Amino acid sequence: MVDLRAQHERIRSEVDAALSRVVESAHFIQGDECAAFEEEFAAYCGASHACGVANGTDALTIALRAYGVGPGDEVITVANTFIGTGEAILLNGAKPVFVDVDKDTFTMDPGLVERAITSRTRLILPVHLYGHPADMAAIGAIAAGHGLPVLEDAAQAHGARAGGRRAGSLGHAACFSFYPAKNLGAYGDAGMVVSSDGAFIERVREIANHGGHRRYEHDVLGTNSRLDTLQAAVLRVKLRYLDAWNRERRALAKAYDEALADAAPVGRPRETPGTESAWHLYTVRAENRDGLRAELEQQGIATAVHYPKPIHLQPALAAMGGRPGDLPVSEQLCREVLSLPLYPELPLVTVEHIAARVKAFCRTPAVHP
Ligand SMILES: *Cc1c(COP(=O)(O)O)cnc(C)c1O
Repeated sequence: MVDLRAQHERIRSEVDAALSRVVESAHFIQGDECAAFEEEFAAYCGASHACGVANGTDALTIALRAYGVGPGDEVITVANTFIGTGEAILLNGAKPVFVDVDKDTFTMDPGLVERAITSRTRLILPVHLYGHPADMAAIGAIAAGHGLPVLEDAAQAHGARAGGRRAGSLGHAACFSFYPAKNLGAYGDAGMVVSSDGAFIERVREIANHGGHRRYEHDVLGTNSRLDTLQAAVLRVKLRYLDAWNRERRALAKAYDEALADAAPVGRPRETPGTESAWHLYTVRAENRDGLRAELEQQGIATAVHYPKPIHLQPALAAMGGRPGDLPVSEQLCREVLSLPLYPELPLVTVEHIAARVKAFCRTPAVHP
């Protein structure tokens, strides 16, 4: 699906220099690289503060804790997402309240948020799925009406824009993952919480670093979830390329769009007016998704399903009592979505080849056994 070696080839000498800078300094925990990357990434997002953490799931978990989310609280989110979104809520002892998604954008349906709010609701957590910003204007307006903060799960949306602003500055705070295959990926695990609320980011920093700001002074119960210094050094190099790589993703997504324009019944992803997707994934919909996937696999084309099971139906959440039919759009998407290869180094001819195979499949009449 993704060729991380091809990307490394493009930046090998810069990454080597950054890594040896850290190794030579022998400063492996925190330090200037981490502080510089926090500053640079916050500025990139259009926010003023950031705190690096160990991974994206920790970013969400610690951010929720910094809001004081705990047992008895509810967090409104979506179910067609990576499990990390739900884990973060449950690990704080709170209850995820799932709302369904819009059938065109695959992101939180703002029309369903109001009626999900109760006296226990602490926060709204939309996900910018596949790199497409959720409808933050509508969600933000509802949240503001109830005095609730909105936390972005921006783990797939580095560089995405809505209304001229970048993901990371569309809510009160945002959580990012730098898992290697994300638009901005480390050479291991890494994550970050971004916000323009400096006091909030200081609470995140305290929790992520053993509950204190000074060594051996522990004011709150914290954990060890610091951004790794070697990863920060790599990410600083890669951040300089993020916009260029996102433009390459966009051009390839456009090529898929054009090639698949007459490939109905395969549904294509699309941007809503005023938004710019980060094109983390190019995910189509097909009624016979499994057939299409098998056919592409036969042709040596790797695909993936994001996600095969909505998290309200995952066994890990069985205690929440989710049932099939609770979230009809999310559940249908899980049956129909298929992510095609998309990464900056993917040759245009390969996109054209893959699109041609998808179209050929569409022209083949379905076989009913
Ligand atoms: C990747 C991802 C996460 C978790 O990030 P990790 O760094 O893998 O822990 C959370 N939410 C979404 C939507 C993601 O795609």
